[in-house]
Amino acid sequence: MKKLINDVGAVVDDMIDGLVRSVDGLARIEGERVIVRRDLDAVRSSGQVALVSGGGSGHEPAHAGYVGAGMLTAAVCGDVFTSPSTDAVLSAIRAVGGPAGVLLIVKSYTGDRLNFGLAAEIARAEGIPVEMVIVADDVSLATGASNAGRRGIAGTVLVHKVAGAAAAAGLSLGEVAALARRVSAGVGSMGVGLTACTVPAAGRPSFSLADDEIEFGLGIHGEAGVRRDRLQPAGALVSTVAERIFDDRGLAAGDRVVLLVNNLGATPSMEMAIVAGEAARAAEARGLRVERMWTGAFLTALDMAGFSLSALAVDDPLLGHLDAPTTASAWPVSTAPVSVAPSVAMAARPDEALDSAGEPDPRLVPAIEAAARALIADEARLTALDQAVGDGDLGLNLARGAEAILAGIDDYRALGRPAALRRLSAVVRKTVGGTSGALYAVGLMRAAAVADQSAGEGVALWGEALAAAADAISRLGDARPGDRTMLDALLPAAEALAAAGDDPRAAHAAAVEAATHGAAATAAIASRRGRSSYLGDRAVGHPDPGAEAVVVWLAAIGKVLGEEGA
Ligand code: ADP
Ligand code: MG
Repeated sequence: MKKLINDVGAVVDDMIDGLVRSVDGLARIEGERVIVRRDLDAVRSSGQVALVSGGGSGHEPAHAGYVGAGMLTAAVCGDVFTSPSTDAVLSAIRAVGGPAGVLLIVKSYTGDRLNFGLAAEIARAEGIPVEMVIVADDVSLATGASNAGRRGIAGTVLVHKVAGAAAAAGLSLGEVAALARRVSAGVGSMGVGLTACTVPAAGRPSFSLADDEIEFGLGIHGEAGVRRDRLQPAGALVSTVAERIFDDRGLAAGDRVVLLVNNLGATPSMEMAIVAGEAARAAEARGLRVERMWTGAFLTALDMAGFSLSALAVDDPLLGHLDAPTTASAWPVSTAPVSVAPSVAMAARPDEALDSAGEPDPRLVPAIEAAARALIADEARLTALDQAVGDGDLGLNLARGAEAILAGIDDYRALGRPAALRRLSAVVRKTVGGTSGALYAVGLMRAAAVADQSAGEGVALWGEALAAAADAISRLGDARPGDRTMLDALLPAAEALAAAGDDPRAAHAAAVEAATHGAAATAAIASRRGRSSYLGDRAVGHPDPGAEAVVVWLAAIGKVLGEEGA
């Protein structure tokens, strides 16, 4: 277990300390794991209903992140994934409870129901009006006698938002509770986990999933889900989950809904955006009108990767409460309506048409094909090399470019050399990406210019083009020989061609040999350019992947041109 903690026994207290120090407007009740609004006195004298929620910790930003004007008045933090004690809840109720009363918003778990319920009883006996709303939004569990009933998960945050806005608007305890019950009854949620999570005190993941396995309908306490399945594309996964929620909640075409796309803790924002797009699509497919959509980490399960989706049918009054301003740190800042725009696509301007000047060269297509196939065949090796010293994408990037070239290979047959090289440059630019994509594209452009202007033929022309390409790459990338880059293979090859005689076979063999030596020699150099320069001496011992890639395509081309007598 690798975690940024001091001591497994202190995580909740240290977290509370950090939140109170770093988030504006929060305070801790002395001696209790209870976070309250710092302007508590003003709240109490305002005659507004106070809202208390909470539960086990590990669901951050829930629930302390929802403490603020317009949402919760207090959050009670239990141990990780453990209900807070009755006394902790009671101290929160006592701290916030004025004559207007207190609403408890509780996720449906046995421990929480018991501790919040008992605290409510005691507080009522003390004269504080208390109402309690249980949220059980997890549609992955059928309601029935075979389990403890549905769990409360991320949909709870929508209950906080609506009830908080209603309380801030001055509604009575009965009215706020009724609205909270309405949201709680309407909202449906379901989660998908890609990994389990690690409770600090346990020190190991709560369950294990194979690389290609996912868990449907899992709980937010690291408990396994209702069904294990193979990993699928995001679109298929999200649509399965969305359909289940829509069916369960009886949502049909024309219904107005809001969607909450929740990060379970360790999902990259990039993937969350993909999930959000798919959720919008799934709602559209059902004919729902998505009035609002929020994406982010709302109610997590420590470091679990995965998401949950929540859907709630809304009308104008509910939307008004969802849109009402709040100072809670974890509710998305935008208070203006954020309606879901259909994805906007504008036509891109096409490239300038490529000229097709020059006589087609019959050896060109076989040479291009051979280079592309060789890069595809060596994808795994190049990737492994880039993993050792870079970010591991080189093999994949070059293979993607090679596939794109092969897909359009017939286009090259009618083109002269300059036009073919320019087309190659454009395809590489659009498909390869990374550093190599731009560098190869510029090299091919320069080679095209040489092919346009040079009077040379055969080995001489090939050597001239390669030297010009290397020069362009060196200028754009500001790299020189010995910097541990693709130039350490390209330049020796160009020099060997320039020094070779007219025999194509010997010339190409010499070029490939020079490139091979140059690439191998990079293993002894510390990098000064590209990603591997961040590694300094740690790159030593591994050849530069970009230089190795040059050898791959150069050897393939050399074979074709050498054998056919360039
Ligand atoms: P990245 O992932 O960093 O964008 P790629 O994986 O596409 O880069 O390519 C990595 C290779 O690019 C390196 O192995 C090296 O040969 C080459 N390279 C990196 N920087 C330069 C540079 N400034 N000039 C020439 N080649 C470079
Ligand atoms: Mg890379």
